[in-house]
Amino acid sequence: MKLAVDSSGQTIEAAEGSPTLGRCPQCGAPVILRRRNDGKGGNTYFWRHQDHLNLDCPARFSANGLGRTGGASAQAG
Ligand SMILES: [Zn+2]
Repeated sequence: MKLAVDSSGQTIEAAEGSPTLGRCPQCGAPVILRRRNDGKGGNTYFWRHQDHLNLDCPARFSANGLGRTGGASAQAG
């Protein structure tokens, strides 16, 4: 997912320079800033649930192209 919230409830977008730890806006579980190569010389940033917490969270497979349909290197939110 692209958006998380910080400890004060502020929305933080996954991007270079973002905090490395946030919280899921859906379930409140810790999420970690992850980076992957976008295949075009750049990087894509996204938040991923820490230690695969909360497998039922609706935010895990959001429609941002990084979910299960994102290809072999997809990282589940
Ligand atoms: Zn969640």
